Amino acid sequence: MKFEDLKNGIIAGDRRALARGITLVESAREDHRSRAAELLAALPKDRAALRIGLSGTPGVGKSTFIESFGLMLTKRDLRVAVLAVDPSSARSGGSILGDKTRMDQLSREPRAFIRPSPSQSHLGGVARRSREAVALCEAAGFDVVLIETVGVGQSETVVAEMSDLFLLLLAPAGGDELQGVKRGIMEMADLIVINKADGELKGAARRTCADYAGALRLLRKRPQDPEGFPLAMTVSAIEEHGLDVAWEKMQELMQWRRAKGFWQRTRAAQARYWFEQDVKHRLLAQMETPEAREALETLSDRVAGGEIDPSSAARDFVARLRG
Ligand code: GDP
Repeated sequence: MKFEDLKNGIIAGDRRALARGITLVESAREDHRSRAAELLAALPKDRAALRIGLSGTPGVGKSTFIESFGLMLTKRDLRVAVLAVDPSSARSGGSILGDKTRMDQLSREPRAFIRPSPSQSHLGGVARRSREAVALCEAAGFDVVLIETVGVGQSETVVAEMSDLFLLLLAPAGGDELQGVKRGIMEMADLIVINKADGELKGAARRTCADYAGALRLLRKRPQDPEGFPLAMTVSAIEEHGLDVAWEKMQELMQWRRAKGFWQRTRAAQARYWFEQDVKHRLLAQMETPEAREALETLSDRVAGGEIDPSSAARDFVARLRG
């Protein structure tokens, strides 16, 4: 596809062009990288989707929730894109959105776009690709971009840093489940959503919800939260209960944040964060050349042998990198 066609296709919201654009930003090839950079620079910056980060361990019902929630939004005439940040995909051999049977109905919906996670083990690489894919979806005029991740390692932080709001999806469980969710993850959440509040699980879901509501009240108040947030609530993705309430709450939160300037401030801080991350990755990549590795090993041996002290060796090494 010619560059102009690709660009115009994305701007017109054409899903095929968008898919091609994402393939381009996902590519590691040097010529693709520069074309991707050119594409990102040429796209309009005045379109802003609501970016919703969504995390939850396997089995809590993420894909079921995204399917029901996504269909509810498309029925309201909103265009929804679904992306995944899945650093474990290379290890497990399949991406979390790779299975074609997942989100079957949503994937057939013309107002929806579903993209599986790029298979890559390196979280830094996945982060950049996902962030650029989000930017492409925004330029393509999507109203909502859902960014899904499983709770592994740092992936929640990565997703939270590219989202306007962060949703933690949980399943009902026994009394000590609170301990299963790391405090840091809870602190990131704007909405804690207990799924599967249906049938026999309804009571357990309510209790789990009350536990989390209590735990949230104990957290330090964040300036970017209006009264009543962050909040815990129950839904049933299968029975499609509570999804409308969840959507109303998300809108209420975002309207408040936009009005108070927090939305803009958060996006600016996120742009700074990604800039710094990218600089770090580029510097680290410079250490991976054969010459750099050799110099590092030689210096390391000399440090170990007591010939040179660690910080002088480090200074020496960095000076060599600069050439
Ligand atoms: P994921 O691994 O987080 O994407 O979870 P899935 O969406 O694949 O769901 C895992 C299991 O939980 C499946 O068997 C679903 O049918 C079930 N499930 C998902 N949502 C609900 C719900 O709202 N209620 C009940 N009872 N089961 C659900």
